[in-house]
Amino acid sequence: MKVAIVTGATRGIGMQIAIDLAKAGYNVVINYNSNTEKAMEVKKMCDEYNESIIFRADVSKPDDAKILVDEVITRFGQIDLLVNNAGITKDQLILRMSEDDFNDVIDVNLGGTFNMCKNVSKHMAKKRSGVIINMASVIGEIGNIGQANYAASKGGVIALTKSLAKELALRGVRVNAVAPGYIDTDMTKVLADNIKEEIIKQIPLKRIGTPKDVSNLVLFLSSDNASYITGQVVNVCGGMVI
Ligand code: NAP
Repeated sequence: MKVAIVTGATRGIGMQIAIDLAKAGYNVVINYNSNTEKAMEVKKMCDEYNESIIFRADVSKPDDAKILVDEVITRFGQIDLLVNNAGITKDQLILRMSEDDFNDVIDVNLGGTFNMCKNVSKHMAKKRSGVIINMASVIGEIGNIGQANYAASKGGVIALTKSLAKELALRGVRVNAVAPGYIDTDMTKVLADNIKEEIIKQIPLKRIGTPKDVSNLVLFLSSDNASYITGQVVNVCGGMVI
């Protein structure tokens, strides 16, 4: 049976991806940073379809990422799919953005993706197969006021994805990035209603996206139907970026 690691899988987009992968026949490793109770709830939903495990690890910490990957190999013997979904925001205009706010976002979003790719790609390269999907953002392509840290981290994820796709292609590993627009999760719930209305006006499909919209794309990219696709950034944004 295929094994998938989904980082940041207790809420929002990651939770939906974990459940859909379990449904699609994967043993899913549900990674999270703080909320064990929520991780247990997601595990219960995944276990309806296939065996899953929860694993607390702060992906921004190289040692945590290594322990997570070693544990998965001990438990399941292989990793077929890595979805680097864990991410945070700490929005602020640059004049008020502290170094910590900048570094924390880079460390989780970009550093976490690097830490996980580094540890997992070793096993995939040895097996000469595997798929890595990195969660970027349209903000990493177009930038945004108050999100210099986040945009830089996601732009970095896109560049990392393209480099790894070139590096790992001959080892049978595909690496792609998914770039969501505005998706209805805890991350965007903080936005005021008038700001949400303004955002919707700029989306040709006239709605905010759902975690399912993103998960559908991840499921496709992870499947053999996408076997000729690597190094790409696929937007799922209702046409917000055209
Ligand atoms: P979310 O609802 O805020 O959930 C974030 C998840 O990441 C949680 O499960 C959280 O676990 C986990 N996490 C945070 N820091 C972590 C760390 N250091 N190590 C491991 N796990 C960590 O976020 P979301 O909206 O679903 O977003 C998921 C991904 O999509 C992110 O990469 C985000 O940047 C990207 N994205 C989202 C949107 C959007 O509109 N929502 C748009 C574009 C891109 P704990 O709760 O246990 O800490």
